Amino acid sequence: MWDLGVEGGTLVTRMGLIRANLYVQGEKLGAISVERQRSHRSLDARERLVLPGVIDTHLHSRDPGLTYKEDFDHATRAAAFGGVTTVLEMPNCLPPVTDLGSFEARRAHLLPQAHVDFGLWALALGDANLAELPRLAAAGACGFKLFWGYALDRRTLALVYNPAPDDDVVPPPDDAGLLRLMDAVQATGRPLAIHAEHRGLNAALIAGVDPDAPDTYAEFLRTRPALTEAVAVETACRLAQATGVALHIVHLTAADSVDVIRAARARGVDVTAETCPQYITLSDEDFPRVGPLMKVYPPVRTVADQSALRRGLADGTIAYVASDHAPHATHEKQGSLWTAPAGTPVVETMLPLFLRLVSQGVFTLEDVARLLSYAPARRFGLYPRKGALEPGSDADLVIVNPDHPWTIRAAAAHSKHPLSPWEGETVPMAVETTVVRGQVVVADGELQTPGAGTFLRFGAPLS
Ligand SMILES: [Zn+2]
Repeated sequence: MWDLGVEGGTLVTRMGLIRANLYVQGEKLGAISVERQRSHRSLDARERLVLPGVIDTHLHSRDPGLTYKEDFDHATRAAAFGGVTTVLEMPNCLPPVTDLGSFEARRAHLLPQAHVDFGLWALALGDANLAELPRLAAAGACGFKLFWGYALDRRTLALVYNPAPDDDVVPPPDDAGLLRLMDAVQATGRPLAIHAEHRGLNAALIAGVDPDAPDTYAEFLRTRPALTEAVAVETACRLAQATGVALHIVHLTAADSVDVIRAARARGVDVTAETCPQYITLSDEDFPRVGPLMKVYPPVRTVADQSALRRGLADGTIAYVASDHAPHATHEKQGSLWTAPAGTPVVETMLPLFLRLVSQGVFTLEDVARLLSYAPARRFGLYPRKGALEPGSDADLVIVNPDHPWTIRAAAAHSKHPLSPWEGETVPMAVETTVVRGQVVVADGELQTPGAGTFLRFGAPLS
């Protein structure tokens, strides 16, 4: 007798759709079967889609640290309601994750709040913590994140976007420093993720802004053009080619960068890239309606960039989609375009927005299984434990009603602050049930099993 049956649904896999029942034993998927089998508990999935749980490799919960913006309880609750069953948490909390002590303290701090499974990124500072990287890898970090282009406050190691001349900061590594960092990360076997905006170009363009310039999105884009991303991505790809490191470019935004990634992959460089819902559903034309809620770094660009990103996902140049969920407090996002901080809440609406692109014919349901589950799992060594509906995998799945239009209302969502760049937009399909390792975490609009998440120690045998 199985513990749980998910019966009567259409299973969505990266290879196609299958009408079948799915049976769970303990934490694992046990069987996929056309015949009905006996189970202690059954979920009715008739006229529903059953998808593999979404894996979000790019989440900022702010916890510990600036938890007035968001915390891990809220972020993983929002994830669960959005069909996300695994998150990889970014390391720029306070104190940031730069050594074994901060890594272990954070793991212990987040575990009791985790409503979905989670892994932890570690922060790469350049030469300042090269010696710590092997210890962080041994402790199970999923990879190393370099906020390339950003300085760090020397005392707190907080990110500093635009340091003043007399600020006491650790500057970001130069190209030679990045080469040393890549060699060190390559030796750990983990990926190096890079925020790619060229510091020198950005700084010069921002310094050239007339303080009396109009507060327009076009002026904002002029200070962070596609050029600064494409140059940084090109340099990173060339250095990765020389070192053999597994390079991952986070939040790709520009058509020019897609071309750079495509050429690097054709040369055999071990580089992957992600893009995010904000870059494939919004453009500069939305700013008058949405306002600073859509301010993110790198910025949302033009419709032409949006189209190139969609094509890059469809043809495999861009490996997958991640959220870059990075909330701020309501009063902070109500500032002007220049003063509002960059970042916005995304994780809960990521799958619904992607399903809307499916209903618009931009992507297929098979693409959802590939781009939101399988490909991120592959990149981080989580597959076959996670990332697919296959016997022996963790029973992480989402039940979606494909015929249930609803309107995004941030006030009804689960992040700490009721904000969304997609407020008032209608999506055609609804996430109804989220199952994490066989536990029904969300059903009937309620969090059924709080604290169901577990820590994923990367590098250990994961299957
Ligand atoms: Zn981010």
